[in-house]
Amino acid sequence: MEKLNIGAKKLGLHLTPGQLKQFHLYYQELVGWNKRVNLTAITDYEDVQIKHFLDSLTVTMAWQQPVVDTKFRLIDVGTGAGIPGLALKILFPDIRLVLLDSTAKKAAFLRHLKSELGLDNVEIVVGRAEEIAHQAQYREQFDMVLSRGVALLPTLVELTLPFCTIGGSFTAQKKGAIDLELSQASKAISLLGGSLREVRKIDLEEFTDERWLVVIDKVLSTPQQYPRRPGMPAKRPIV
Ligand code: SAH
Repeated sequence: MEKLNIGAKKLGLHLTPGQLKQFHLYYQELVGWNKRVNLTAITDYEDVQIKHFLDSLTVTMAWQQPVVDTKFRLIDVGTGAGIPGLALKILFPDIRLVLLDSTAKKAAFLRHLKSELGLDNVEIVVGRAEEIAHQAQYREQFDMVLSRGVALLPTLVELTLPFCTIGGSFTAQKKGAIDLELSQASKAISLLGGSLREVRKIDLEEFTDERWLVVIDKVLSTPQQYPRRPGMPAKRPIV
C-alpha cells in the first residue's frame, strides 16, 4: 500500500501500519470477489490504491474539521464496493457509517468486508435512495453525505440532499468537465434545501485526469415530496 501511503501523506493524512493492513485486505477481498460479483473495472494493485482508496480520502480536503467523533454520521449513497465510504471508515474508525446501494450482491460483499476488517458502526442498507430517503431513521439524519459515480448533479442532489441534516453537507466526487452539470444543478440545489459552498479541484500528481469535489451545504429542510419515486430523479431531473 506504498502508493496509497505516499498519496495520503500529501493530503496531510498519516495511515498507521494497521490501517495500511486493512487497506491491503480490502484490496485482496475486492479483487477476489470481483471474479464472481461485478464490483469494479479497476483491479490493478497500484490503480486500486490511487483510483479507489486515495481518491476516497481526497474528500477530507473539503472537511472543515478533522472527523474523529463517534457522533459523526456519514452516508455514502450508491457506494458500490464501498467507495468512498468504507475507505473513510478505515481512516476514521469512530464515525457512524451507512453504506447504501440498490444492488444486493454488492451489499453482500460489504457485509463480508465489514466483518473481515472488524469494523463496527457500519450499517449496510440495500435499497433505492429515492425510497430510503423517506424513512424517518435516515431522512435528514447525516452530518455528511458522500457520493461518487452515481449520477449527474441535478439528479444526484435529489438522491442525496434529503439525507443531510440542516447544518450538514453533501460532497460529490466528480471527474472531467463539470461546468454544465454544475450550472444545471443550481435549481435542484436550492429546491432541495442546499447552498453551493465550493467547487474544489484535486491537485495531486497521482491523478492524471481532472477531479473535483462539489460541496453543498444543507441550509433548509428538503420539501416532503423529494426525492420523487424511483427513477424520476434520473428520468426528469430538476433543471
Ligand atoms: N460509488 C462507487 C460505485 C459507483 S457505481 C464507486 O465510485 O466506485 C454506482 C452505484 O450506485 C451502483 O453500485 C448502483 O447500484 C448504485 N445506485 C445507482 N442508483 C442508485 C439509487 N437510486 N439508489 C441506491 N443506489 C444506487
